[in-house]
Amino acid sequence: MRRALISDIHGNLEALEVVLDDIKAQGITEIFCLGDIIGYGPNPRECIDRVMEHCAVSLLGNHDQGALFDPDGFNIGAERAIFWTREQLESPTDRDNNEKRWEFLGELPRTHRFHQFLFVHGSPRNPLSEYIFPEDIYNQRKMERLFQLVEKYCFQGHTHVPGVFTESYQFFSPEEIDHEYTLGEGKLMINVGSVGQPRDGDPRACYVILEDGHVEHKGAIETVVYNVNDEPPPSAGPITVRFRRLPYDFETTIKKIYAVSELEPFLGDRLRQGR
Ligand code: ZN
Repeated sequence: MRRALISDIHGNLEALEVVLDDIKAQGITEIFCLGDIIGYGPNPRECIDRVMEHCAVSLLGNHDQGALFDPDGFNIGAERAIFWTREQLESPTDRDNNEKRWEFLGELPRTHRFHQFLFVHGSPRNPLSEYIFPEDIYNQRKMERLFQLVEKYCFQGHTHVPGVFTESYQFFSPEEIDHEYTLGEGKLMINVGSVGQPRDGDPRACYVILEDGHVEHKGAIETVVYNVNDEPPPSAGPITVRFRRLPYDFETTIKKIYAVSELEPFLGDRLRQGR
């Protein structure tokens, strides 16, 4: 079965639509979203609507939580973006849909488990807000603790830097592994990158395809999402992850950001640089 893993959309509709089109073009029907649908970008409502419609699993990110509750621990620019995002979601002009969006955000879980896979926004220790950066491979205590909490494979977002962390404290960027990694015996943490605000120097939208060796069958989505205790049979084939990069029209997103005074121009500029 092939699944698409997306994360950190951050209200960037142009990037999200290109990613959803690519997923569809590849015949993939199941999408997991690892959080931060909103925050920073100019189209929070539209992005929530797309995720509600297309994603079988969706997790709470720290920016989603910031919009729902009082934002805590954000820099000024991020906080202003969150307050502006909240205004969009509270606007009376679209009351019925906004109520649905709030309800959806309010019910998002922090983790999702599905046989040997754990999905989080931040880290297995703090699913919502702990960062695991590539340079953390030099922090042996941190990596050791994190891997203790991973049963086998953990998928995460949050840093906007895609790549694979191995149990022997190595980090591989997608370029270093030719954008593909076959999962083996050892534990792994895999960052799926960011759809709407990549920060690894490549401005293209990023997501991951997880091919888990299971045979696809009708009703799989229901089984996977709602009956976590209904363990599917053990994996038959090799499990692989493939990192996808897609160019999108970020100049349109940037123009929209520039037009909103509550969104710092920097939030647009960084899309051009992928930083
Ligand atoms: Zn994020």
